[in-house]
Amino acid sequence: MSLSLNGVTLASVRERDQQDPLAHFKQRFALPEGVLYLDGNSLGAQPMAAKQAVTNTLDQWRDELIKGWNQGWFDAPERLGNLLAPIIGARHGEVSVTDNITLNIFKLLGYIWQQRPAERQAVLSEGGNFPTDGYIAQGFCRVSGAEHSFLPEDGDLAAHLDGVAVVVLSQVNYRTGKLRDIAATTKLINDHGAEVIWDLAHSAGALPIDLNGAGARYAVGCTYKYLNGGPGAPAFLYVHKDVQDGGWQPLSGWHGHASPFAFDADYAPAGDISRFRTGTHSALAYTALEASLSLWAEVDMQALRDKSLAMSELFRECLADSLEAHGIKDMTPATSERGSQVSLIDSQHGYATVQALIARGVIGDYREPGLMRFGFAPLYLSFEDVWQAAHHFRAVLKSGEYQNSQFHVRSAVT
Ligand SMILES: *Cc1c(COP(=O)(O)O)cnc(C)c1O
Repeated sequence: MSLSLNGVTLASVRERDQQDPLAHFKQRFALPEGVLYLDGNSLGAQPMAAKQAVTNTLDQWRDELIKGWNQGWFDAPERLGNLLAPIIGARHGEVSVTDNITLNIFKLLGYIWQQRPAERQAVLSEGGNFPTDGYIAQGFCRVSGAEHSFLPEDGDLAAHLDGVAVVVLSQVNYRTGKLRDIAATTKLINDHGAEVIWDLAHSAGALPIDLNGAGARYAVGCTYKYLNGGPGAPAFLYVHKDVQDGGWQPLSGWHGHASPFAFDADYAPAGDISRFRTGTHSALAYTALEASLSLWAEVDMQALRDKSLAMSELFRECLADSLEAHGIKDMTPATSERGSQVSLIDSQHGYATVQALIARGVIGDYREPGLMRFGFAPLYLSFEDVWQAAHHFRAVLKSGEYQNSQFHVRSAVT
């Protein structure tokens, strides 16, 4: 008798791994023994090449000292931006790898704000989005005098665009994993006379993106989730070529100056995407990310998408009967509207269930209220990994392991 979860056999998933065109990437990642990592949507795994790359930069710092800035450190934001561009459908010179998402949203809000038609006084953010996007929009509104409002979750966007200058939206919602249509939504917003800043935190490296093709003018995203740049890796910012000469961005620091080393008293923005820099960046952080982006250059994004959807479907299928028996709600969107995650709701035992899974080496994460999130990073997960994770999940539910008091203690980072 072969082992089976809700009718899915271990033999069948092993067969899928045999056929998987992306299977060879797994060996390029340094994953600990005994860990089934379903949290690549929060912090991507470490590419094997990262360690040597960081060591090389440490040696460069030791041996070359300040000369290192002229040996690739200083131009890293644009060089890495150009490596990242194909992953998001941008052209050479349209992407800067810099700062974090929060700061990059602020910069773009200010940049767009000063070019807006005078009668447009509002900034709209998305209810239910990752909170920092709303927080920074509110902070921007306090200093600019703009009005801030939230689009209700599942609210009608067109009905909320009167008087709006800028909208901040996520392509994939961090909780539900729901995917928006960038092309149609950008057109709708632009037709109403507003601009949109797309947040690609949960889509860059998770699915194919064509920013140019979709007519998008502004976007931000992070590189430590699906792009495996490492904890605190610098984020990215995209500005379409046609709108790169629109004045100042509000965090007008020396690295974004037209001639940073002229040390002029007055600010003058650089003529290209480097205008969106602020101040000195961490050469070490760029090094780890560059090692990852070199690997990404080999990835077929359509194959990635196919595998991502096949894995999230497999996980759901292996669990379906068991989730139902335990009253856990599967709120994962249909495949045509799904990012690269499975979202399950159990407001009573969700937190403890995730902790019990982590104790078994199955790492997912928990977000209030009641959400268990499982991300599928196709480069380093196999179909068998997904099956084994589901096997543990079923065992945790069946045994009631989550009731153990050790799984109810809260850490600072969940
Ligand atoms: C992860 C994430 C962020 C993180 O912002 P940082 O400023 O880089 O810490 C922002 N927005 C969304 C939608 C995210 O998922």
